[in-house]
Formats: sequence, C-alpha cells, structure tokens
Amino acid sequence: MTIAGRLAPSPTGLLHLGHARSFLLAWWHARSRGGKVLLRMEDLDAPRVKPGMADAALFDLEWLGLDWDGEVVWQSRRTELYEQALSRLEARDLVYPCICTRREIAEAQSAPHADAARYPGTCRGRFRSIADARAQSGREPALRLHVAPGELEFKDALHGRIVEDVARTVGDFPVATRSGAAAYQLAVVVDDAQQGVTEVVRGDDLLPSTARQALLQELLSLPHPSWLHVPLVQDANGRRLAKRADDVSLAQLRESGLDPGEVVAWAARASAQPGPERGLAGDYLDSFDLALLPLSPVRLASSPFAR
Ligand SMILES: [Zn+2]
Repeated sequence: MTIAGRLAPSPTGLLHLGHARSFLLAWWHARSRGGKVLLRMEDLDAPRVKPGMADAALFDLEWLGLDWDGEVVWQSRRTELYEQALSRLEARDLVYPCICTRREIAEAQSAPHADAARYPGTCRGRFRSIADARAQSGREPALRLHVAPGELEFKDALHGRIVEDVARTVGDFPVATRSGAAAYQLAVVVDDAQQGVTEVVRGDDLLPSTARQALLQELLSLPHPSWLHVPLVQDANGRRLAKRADDVSLAQLRESGLDPGEVVAWAARASAQPGPERGLAGDYLDSFDLALLPLSPVRLASSPFAR
C-alpha cells in the first residue's frame, strides 16, 4: 500500500508556530517512510475564509521546506463529490433537515450544565422533507446525520485506543450547512478517501472530531486512515495558540528576518527529534523517529527565537 499523508490548512488566518510543527510532523511522518504528501486547502467555511490566506499558507509551507505531490486540492471546488456522498446518506434515510439555531440548541438542553455541544434531536422526525422544513419554518435548513447509539472504537498512534458513543457525545451532527455546503466532517471524510490518504497527522484539537469521521467512513463504506493527533503548542500561559495571535505567525517571524531553518529546528526540538541546529524540513528526515514524540503539549516560551 502506498503511504499517503496530507497537509490540510484552512485559510482562515495566518499560520503560526503550532501549525508549522503539526505540518512538519505530518510531512516527516509520511516522507520518512517514503510516502506521498498531498495538500488540501480546507476553504469550505466561506464566512471564515479570509482573502489571501490560502496563498499565504502555501508560501509559509514552502518557506519551511515542505513540498507535496500533485496539485493542491481545493475543497470549494469539490461540491459535486460532497453532494454524491450526501445523496448516498439521504438514500438510506440517514439525514434529516434541521432548522435549529445555535441559541435554540443551547436552550433545548435539559440540564442547565449539559454539554452545549450535544444536539438533543429536536428536528428528528419533525419534517417530511427539506422542502417541508423550509415551508414550515421559513428558514433554510441544515442537514443532520441520524446517529444511532452505540460505541465506536478507533486507534490513535499517540493516544491509543479511544471508544466513543457519538450519539451521547455530540448527537446528530451536521453533514450540510444551512447554505447547502458540505459540513466539515463530511468534506474531510470524502476528501481523505478520494485522495487516497492513508494517514492523518494533525493537531489534537481535532481528536474530538475523529469518532464522527470514523462513523461517516463506516456509513459511506470508506476506508479508515490511521490517525495520529499531535499535542498542541501553547503560549507561555498554557493557552492554545490561536490564528489571531499573530505575534507568532510565520509571516511575522519571516518579516522580522528570522531564518526558516530556526523555525524548523525549533519544531524538531519541540518534538524531541534529533537533527541539525538549524535546517529545512528535509534535513530532519533521516533521523525522524515518531517514538520520540512527547504526549504532552508544547509550552512556548515568550520568544523562542530570542538570542
Ligand atoms: Zn433542529
């Protein structure tokens, strides 16, 4: 089997050191075993996508010495593939229209401290069709997946065996948004399968999405890739880096005159990887050893590149 990893930036802001480290790890993991690396731009979330950020991300990745095989895949140009997957779910009666707003979902929680992320099933069986939901509510409905209760198990290369009952943790989740676009979880699953991705290496902020993706893979008869969720990089106060914290954006570091070799060397050190004191991505391939990767988050000193 051909090993195929992927880099999947979302162009909603500038990439920062945390992204750099996750992307380097994904690239090292695949390339060090002779695998392919595919690049997918996750630009479906129209309201959050910012102009110029996709090009900025590609530039940042190349600056670090990362390369990829084939053309960049743009999610915004793959609507047809997502619609085919949606039709397959619809044909099996696995999706239904939902007109709830975020606020209505929060208010519908039975217990005051119930997990607000769980959808209580308000619209399940409520409408005969999408057209019916639209006519009755005057709103454009989203589509949710009907999630049957039951434990689902998957393995993460770093976190081990994980068991989750999606019906209990998140409930019926969206597979299409109100604007008709594929929801994130569906798009990722369709793309990983269509691109032939065999391993997913990404930040562990996406670990809670994995059970939903594994469930969709089962329902659509798509293969499961292997998963490896990398602990996130935190700031000096233990908060995860955000795209708005542009003090650590790669663009800003570059503008300040920093050599990309310093960033790559920092990412290698922060992943307990041996290698040169500075270098581009390829310089750390030979010595890359996943077993050295620590399970704890990386705490970023206020200025890791101060000399
Ligand atoms: Zn609803």
